[in-house]
Amino acid sequence: MTSAPAIVWLRNDLRLGDNPALHAATELGGPVIIVYIHDEVSAGIRPLGSASRWWLHHSLRALNTQIDQLGGTLVLRQGEAAPIIQELVADHGAQAVFWNRRYGKARDNDATLKEELRQRGITCESFAGNLLFEPWTIKTGEGNPFRVFTPFWKACLSSAPPRFPLPAPESLTCVPGVESDELSSWGLLPTNPDWSAGLEAQWTPGEAGAHTRFENFIESALNSYHRRDEPGIEATSRLSPHLRFGEISPHTIWHRLQDNLPHVSSENTAKFLSEVGWREFSYNILFHHTELAEKNFRPEFDHFPWGEPDQKAIAAWQKGLTGVPLVDAGMRELWETGYMHNRVRMVAASFLIKNLFVHWRVGEAWFWDTLVDADEANNPASWQWVAGSGADAAPYFRVFNPLLQADKFDPDRTYISRWLPESEDYPSEPIVDMKASRERALSAFSALKAARQAG
Ligand SMILES: Cc1cc2nc3c(=O)[nH]c(=O)nc-3n(C[C@H](O)[C@H](O)[C@H](O)COP(=O)(O)OP(=O)(O)OC[C@H]3O[C@@H](n4cnc5c(N)ncnc54)[C@H](O)[C@@H]3O)c2cc1C
Repeated sequence: MTSAPAIVWLRNDLRLGDNPALHAATELGGPVIIVYIHDEVSAGIRPLGSASRWWLHHSLRALNTQIDQLGGTLVLRQGEAAPIIQELVADHGAQAVFWNRRYGKARDNDATLKEELRQRGITCESFAGNLLFEPWTIKTGEGNPFRVFTPFWKACLSSAPPRFPLPAPESLTCVPGVESDELSSWGLLPTNPDWSAGLEAQWTPGEAGAHTRFENFIESALNSYHRRDEPGIEATSRLSPHLRFGEISPHTIWHRLQDNLPHVSSENTAKFLSEVGWREFSYNILFHHTELAEKNFRPEFDHFPWGEPDQKAIAAWQKGLTGVPLVDAGMRELWETGYMHNRVRMVAASFLIKNLFVHWRVGEAWFWDTLVDADEANNPASWQWVAGSGADAAPYFRVFNPLLQADKFDPDRTYISRWLPESEDYPSEPIVDMKASRERALSAFSALKAARQAG
């Protein structure tokens, strides 16, 4: 037992349940300072996109209410994180600082801060809160990182099972009077214009919203997961933004699905968990390639002959005015709700990269700004997967045909007609010749392959 305060620094883990850093701090028995720092300035930080800012605002508001109900206070600060933590330690005589790990570039800042705090005699620990398998623990037989998903996931499944979720605290004793910002002063919400009505209608950010969505998914959609590629039906969980902000932990998901669920087939559960495994795989890649959003995972793609970006074509893609119905329906779903079905993401990304011949980074940046689940690992890893420049990537010759994809996965056009009602300004044909553009992409990709083989 100690009476010195412990600081819990929340980042991508906006929850009270199964939060190892928070759990460790409350276990010490003294008062805690629970702080979230809105940091857009530290090295290695990628400032949030607009939809993520909306989500963050609402998630923090929900968390603040939860903490309030347990008798505590959420402290909000803005600016460079490390000096703020140092200042909190000094001002309040904290003896311990805890956080759950990050895996991208910003982890260097965390390592430096940990070292500095320890040198001052402060206890500082980081925890595994956001991944089932820590990236450095999953390696090939030769001790290297995996580049292919299937053996990666097999290795995960045969390693030590994920730990059990930790309970949320029943009450909180927080250090009183710690200076805190007003959430509204951060200006996270859109104002002029306020485009967030579609997001409000679709989502409930926060831990309670995450758990409700998960339970509803188990109850009514998990057993249809084998139909997850059909965008017109509700067969996936839509947990991605909740996972992105850490409102539910993958451990909670994992262990809940080990329960006997008599109405769900084991194939559907295993398939769902393997998609959660793709998230682990993306983080594994990010951990080893922290510049994933900027650089090709496969360096030979640095020589790919992207043309000058066609701004008119890019704008048409962003607005859902390409004349390709499945692509446009997806881009409008994204604009309206901050989300797009996975199959449609693949098709829309392939169309931008391969038919419009635009660098994957342009699309990645648009998704980063507009997705509520915009994720530092999943987004660039998925874009590079579609481009062919990533790990376990789609083969270069795979150019999705959006018309055939629509016939196959949205045969009665439920999805397309939901997002793309008939309108006069809609192009009567695709803005690009589908066949010629496909040929152009294929020949550029095969030239790249030939150069690689020759070199
Ligand atoms: C071009 C492109 C960009 C993408 N950008 C993102 C992104 O920024 N953030 C993001 O979370 N996902 C991204 N994805 C992956 C995937 O589309 C979403 O995770 C999924 O659509 C979320 O819906 P869901 O929660 O209903 O998924 P479910 O099918 O219910 O899957 C459960 C969870 O598993 C994870 N998951 C599922 N599929 C994938 C995948 N292919 N790769 C990595 N994790 C996966 C997600 O965390 C998801 O919430 C992207 C895919 C593509 C093709």
